[in-house]
Parts: sequence; structure tokens; C-alpha cells
Amino acid sequence: MSKKDIRALTKDQLRDFFVSQGDKAFRGNQVYEWLWSKSAHSFADMTNISKQTRDQLEENFVINHIKVDNMQRSKDGTVKNAVKLHDGLIVESVLIPTESRTTACVSSQVGCSLDCEFCATARLKRMRNLNADEIYDQVAAINQESLHYYNHKLSNIVYMGMGEPLMNYNNVMKSIEMITSEEGLGMSPKRITVSTSGLPKMIKKLADDEVKFNLAVSLHSAIEDTRNKIMPFSKNFPLTDLRESLEYWYEKTQSRVTYEYVVWRDINDKQEDINALVQFCSYIPCKVNLIEYNPIDDGEYQQASNKAIDDYVYTLEKNGIVVNVRRSRGKDIDAACGQLANKS
Ligand code: SF4
Repeated sequence: MSKKDIRALTKDQLRDFFVSQGDKAFRGNQVYEWLWSKSAHSFADMTNISKQTRDQLEENFVINHIKVDNMQRSKDGTVKNAVKLHDGLIVESVLIPTESRTTACVSSQVGCSLDCEFCATARLKRMRNLNADEIYDQVAAINQESLHYYNHKLSNIVYMGMGEPLMNYNNVMKSIEMITSEEGLGMSPKRITVSTSGLPKMIKKLADDEVKFNLAVSLHSAIEDTRNKIMPFSKNFPLTDLRESLEYWYEKTQSRVTYEYVVWRDINDKQEDINALVQFCSYIPCKVNLIEYNPIDDGEYQQASNKAIDDYVYTLEKNGIVVNVRRSRGKDIDAACGQLANKS
């Protein structure tokens, strides 16, 4: 019989296990602390637990800890981890340092079932969802790297790596629960952003669940036909549905949304594209991140001219919309936006 992943157990279940073995319930608390806040890779690491108890755990459970298989460091300080999962599959996560913060960008799925035309991950088929502990481990590993290289803890997390987080809803939510809990990393949910390609039903579910983290939506165009070309799956999710779900989100959470937006040459770099975005931004409080693009090949999707970006910034600001231009980091190691899974 295959052994169970011990981190699939809640704290209460772990306490119950020890009681069922004739031990004290608080042993469950000790082990739980080792598993999460101390990020133990093996039962042998649990030095304040008796050898007999560790053997007992070994007989019943496994710890499916991720392993950083390959770590690359960019000239600009960005770190990319290729992370091996217990079944040999690989995902990538990135540490992005800036002067004021260090951000972890983590993956939520192996591959992706969506089909964004500009994205390297879309070229891999979705193989499976990540478990909550596999997402948590990526964050914990990057936190260690942040301490090692930059002498301070991780300050922010974005769920913007490989996969669509809202298609792995329960595990993403559980990972955030652990990251924010005192028994995990104790981070504030306000420092976490979940980025979705825009699935209206799931955005409403987030609102109903009254989540406290931030929401970002990869919009890329506020013109239906253009968006459908860039993100073909969005034919099933018209912009009117997306708008309605975002209004619902804001009504319930009072939390403004960030629109992630890449400007591509000859795709969405005209004044009519800018005007449509301004209109879309009028529905709820929001801000826009214009993200620099890193071509994954020499095909249709190429970075727009600086003039086009300037036109976006000018018009958005003229209309009172907060806009940031995000320069990509880690291009030399394929860690920049849209590039994950380019090589591995
Ligand atoms: S951009 Fe995100 S949602 Fe779209 S294919 Fe890539 S990983 Fe999936």
C-alpha cells in the first residue's frame, strides 16, 4: 500500500493520528510545526521527536518535498528555480529582487490547459495540478534564497508562474492559508496577488469566499475580437461576463483589481485599443500594469514600440488611471514574464 503524503493531513488529523497510536495529541502539533514552519524535508530532520515516533511516521507517511533541481541567477539578481516534484515533473518559480522588495513568482500547475498565444507554458499540455504543499515549498525555497542573497525575507508573492491558479482553486487557497498562517510563513495576505487569465465564475467564487489577498487579471485587450485572438479560450468568457464578475468582486471585497497588460506590435498598439482599455477601467477601481514582453520566438508576438507604450501611459494617466510600466527581469535566464517553460 502506498504511503500517504503527511502534509495532506490537517493539524487535527495529525493530532488524531497520534491519539490513535496511544500517543499524546500535542505530538501532532510538534510534527505539524516541523512540516510547515520548519519546512522539514525528512522525518530524520525532526530532532525533538523520539526515534521511535519518527520510525512510526516513516512507516505510515511520506514527505513529498520539492527539490530545487537547478538554480540560475541572472545578471540583474533574478533567481529562477527549476523545481522537481516527487513524481519527477518539473515546474519553475522565480525570485525577483528590486530595491524595495523581493517577490516570489510561483507556479500552480504543471503546464497549463489554457492557450494564450504569447505564453511558453501554453505549449506544454497541462499535466497536473500542484498540491498545496508543492506551492508552499516553492515559496519557502525562495524565502531561503532571499535570506541568503539579500539578507531579508521575501516580501511579496505572485501566483503568476506556470498554470492558471483558479483552475487549481482548492490547492491554491490551501497554500495561501498556510503561507499566511502563523504555523507557516506568517505573511500578510495583502502581500499576495493571485493572477488569473479571467475566469468569471471563479472570480465570483473568490469574492464569495471573501479572500483577503489581491486579484490581478491578465486582460491584454478590452476589445473582444482582439482578446479572443490573444487568448483563444476567452471566446467562452465574453468581456461582459468578465466585467460583471469584476464588479461583483469589487462590491464584495472593496479591493481594487490590477489589470496585467502586454502591448504587442500590430496586435494591440493602436489608439482604439487604448480607448477600449480606458473604458474597461471605468467600471471598477483598478490599476494597470503594462508589462514588457519577451518574445518566445520570432513569430507574431513582438514587443511594441516605446512610442506605443508612452501613448498608453499618457492616455491612461490623462483619464486618472494609475499605471505602472513593469520592465521584465531575468531575461537572460528565461525567467521573464511569458518565458517560463521556454527551455525546461
Ligand atoms: S499565460 Fe497563464 S493562463 Fe495563459 S497559457 Fe500561460 S500559464 Fe496558462
